[in-house]
Order: sequence, then structure tokens, then C-alpha cells
Amino acid sequence: MSLLEIDNVTLRFGGLVAVDNVSLRVNEGEVFALVGPNGAGKSTIFNLISRFYDPAEGRIRFDGKDLLKHTADQVPSFGIARTFQNIELFEQATVLQNLLVGRHRHRKTGMLSNIVFSPKAYREELRHREAVEEVIEFLNLQPYRDKMIGGLPYGVRKVVELGRALASEPKLLLLDEPASGLSVEETQDMAFWIEDIQTQMGISVMMVEHDMGLVSAVSGRVMALSDGKELATGTAAEVQSHPAVIEAYLGT
Ligand code: ADP
Ligand code: MG
Repeated sequence: MSLLEIDNVTLRFGGLVAVDNVSLRVNEGEVFALVGPNGAGKSTIFNLISRFYDPAEGRIRFDGKDLLKHTADQVPSFGIARTFQNIELFEQATVLQNLLVGRHRHRKTGMLSNIVFSPKAYREELRHREAVEEVIEFLNLQPYRDKMIGGLPYGVRKVVELGRALASEPKLLLLDEPASGLSVEETQDMAFWIEDIQTQMGISVMMVEHDMGLVSAVSGRVMALSDGKELATGTAAEVQSHPAVIEAYLGT
């Protein structure tokens, strides 16, 4: 059984078929990449997994459960975390506070028990803090820990987004263009982190990425899409040399 199973999924926006009969599997411990020109339907597939949209047709199963029977706000509780193509963080909060938001799915005690002191709430809060401090250390975010997101450079915000997703301790991490806008050095760091996330933490990763250097370095399998359709799936080298993929990129 694969961790994520997408079968024959189609999604239309009016007359536009954004995702056209796509099937894919993400196995446990795998890094799976989606590549393809702008508008290919890559982010829409993430939005389908996140349950922001209902597919017109098809099945989406995660960890043996039918995701289509659940709502978007239930998805994180299954162990699916994501980053967004356009960073979505709380600008007026610190790095630490944004990462604590990532712990939301693990919170058992409500707001009231955090206000009215109880040893149980205190112990739980301590556990969340420890988990977040580990993420801060892993991503070298110590210098920014208590800084407001609003004032941070783009590259650091990108890392904080990864951190917020990691803080939730997911089984599957969805990364939408993790290297876009990053320098060569920052992209290198991102590659190391993705490798560690897979190998040390045992988290499966599905990523959308244009940087084929990064895709080749970290992905097991790659699916190329164009106009919502699968063009080819295989290793990065196989996909890049596939005639349909070359044609789609040349726009012929
Ligand atoms: P990409 O592969 O670049 O991530 P997207 O998945 O964002 O592509 O978009 C796929 C297609 O669906 C594009 O043509 C895009 O304009 C369209 N699209 C995406 N989201 C919406 C939406 N909410 N409403 C209408 N059209 C959309
Ligand atoms: Mg996109």
C-alpha cells in the first residue's frame, strides 16, 4: 500500500481542465516530484490533496483512508503538511510563534486550560516548545527565533514555512516550489534539508519544483505534467529525456 494514492482525478475550473485524469502514488519514505510548465496543474494537485477543491472524478486515499470523505480542516490531522507557492505566514508574529502554529494538530488542551494554569496544560505546552526548538535547530533558525516575520529576508521566510510544516511532524510533506526565489547556496541548503527530512525523519515528500538540479538531487520518482495531463513518470533523467516532456517545454 502506498501512503498517497491518487486515481484518475479530474478537476475543471469552468471550461478549463486543470487536472485531467491524473493517477499517481507516493510511497512511504519517498521523495516524489511534480514538474511541468506554468499552468500544468501542479499546485492544483496539492490543493486537491489539501481538500481545497472537490475533484469532478477520481479517488484520493491517504494512509488507507478516503480523503474525499474529509474536509480541508481535517487534512492536517491525518499527517499531511504543506508549504505554499506564495509564502503564507503570520507577518506580525515571530518565527517561534509561527512555528508553534504548526503544532496546532497536536494540541489537546483548549485555550482556557492554557490560561487557567494546570500542570497538564503546562506539560503539553512544554512538549510543543521542545518540538519547535528542535525544528529551529535543524533549520538553523536560531538567529531569527524571536524576530517578526515581516522584517525577514525572503530566503529566511521560505525556511520558516518549511519549519512550520515540519513542526506538525507530518507523514507527508507537500512542498510547493521550495527553491523558487532562493540563491544557489540557499537551494543547496534546501536540498540537504529535504534529504534529511526523508532519510533521518522518515517523512515522505511530494514537491513541485522547477529547479531540475534540485529535483534530480533529491527525488526518487518524477512526474511531468502539461495542461493537466501526465506526460511521463520515472527518474529525473528519464523524464527529462522523454520526447513529450521536451516538446511541452519547447512549446511546440
Ligand atoms: P501550476 O502547474 O503552475 O502550479 P496551477 O495548478 O496553479 O498550475 O494551475 C493550473 C491551471 O488551473 C491554470 O490554467 C490556472 O490558471 C488554473 N487555475 C488554478 N487555480 C484556479 C482557480 N482557483 N480558478 C480558476 N482557475 C484556476
Ligand atoms: Mg504552481
